[in-house]
Amino acid sequence: MDLFKDIAGYGHEQVVFCHEPACGYFGIIAIHDTTLGPALGGTRFWQYDSTDAAITDALRLARGMTYKAAVAGLSLGGGKSVIIGDNKRTDREAIFRAHGRFVESLGGRYITAEDVGTSPADMEFVHYETNHVAGLTGLSGDPSPVTAHGVYVGIKATARAKWGSDVLTGKTVLVQGCGHVGQYLCSYLRAEDVKLIVSDVDEAKVKQVVAATGATAVAPDRIYDQQADIYAPCALGATINDDTLQRLKVAIVAGGANNQLAERRHGDALAAQGILYAPDFVINGGGLINVYGEIHGWTAERSKKKAGEIYDTLLRIYDLAAAEKIPSYLAADRLAEERLLKVGGMRPMWMPG
Ligand code: NAD
Repeated sequence: MDLFKDIAGYGHEQVVFCHEPACGYFGIIAIHDTTLGPALGGTRFWQYDSTDAAITDALRLARGMTYKAAVAGLSLGGGKSVIIGDNKRTDREAIFRAHGRFVESLGGRYITAEDVGTSPADMEFVHYETNHVAGLTGLSGDPSPVTAHGVYVGIKATARAKWGSDVLTGKTVLVQGCGHVGQYLCSYLRAEDVKLIVSDVDEAKVKQVVAATGATAVAPDRIYDQQADIYAPCALGATINDDTLQRLKVAIVAGGANNQLAERRHGDALAAQGILYAPDFVINGGGLINVYGEIHGWTAERSKKKAGEIYDTLLRIYDLAAAEKIPSYLAADRLAEERLLKVGGMRPMWMPG
């Protein structure tokens, strides 16, 4: 791979390669854009097939964070880090302290948090070395209630754009994944008398949601074939793909999962099929808002209120998509880029001190 070509293509500011021989730590910290504020993004611990794969993941994820923070209206930039290795290893202190030192070396330009393969306990080790870490035990805690609230209001906004009303009563919603986000989302929807059809590969979780909400359960692969109004992916990425696009019988796709489109062209296909898509990085921004709230000492209520703004943000995106005759996923990118340009283009000022 031609690293500088990739960095220039994605628009990254800085990529740091880190090594600590004592514990076999190999890490990459990618800072994509700090126009709006310090780059924030979690640390992923993963056994990549190659160093190239790890670099590509770090670059792609960091860029995604810039867009997520920009549309969420936060004073944050985008970054992400990856640690290459077996995330099940039990001797974690040195690995995460090493990581914390490199985060510290960036002087606050990058703030880390949890991601796939890391836990609040790992972040405590990072915290031994740096204050530029969030997602710590006893602070903002599990982000999924705030994420689910954002997804819920996002579904309502999408319903309003599609049907002229955000009342969901009587609608049928497919919730894929009865994990953290899925469970909270189901309770919000149930309270509005939505008919729920749910799936999960973990039967115990399905049973829990069925008992709590009266939802109908279907086998994991059958969820795409159900007649419904809305599909809310809350499990895996890439569930909007060539196969599922032929099977979905819904008018809206709006859920909490990251990277829902297998490829960008699937966002075009959704629009061509008349299915309104709530861009994932907009509707699931509540998790990031929760971490931001932790950094700034917000109450849980304030974070939830901020996540409620996802409603208006999505309406703006749908208006832009209609005005420009572009799919919603592109309109979301434009909204993020507009904010970056506006803030980035502010004239320089001499400041005292
Ligand atoms: P989770 O692990 O608690 O739940 C995911 C659930 O999906 C699990 O119960 C799992 O068994 C289930 N699942 C896996 N494969 C499945 C399949 N093929 N069919 C049906 N179910 C399947 O995770 P979560 O925290 O609820 O996050 C869900 C999604 O939302 C993820 O994509 C995550 O990246 C994204 N997300 C989460 C947050 C958050 O605050 N937790 C924030 C932003 C985005």
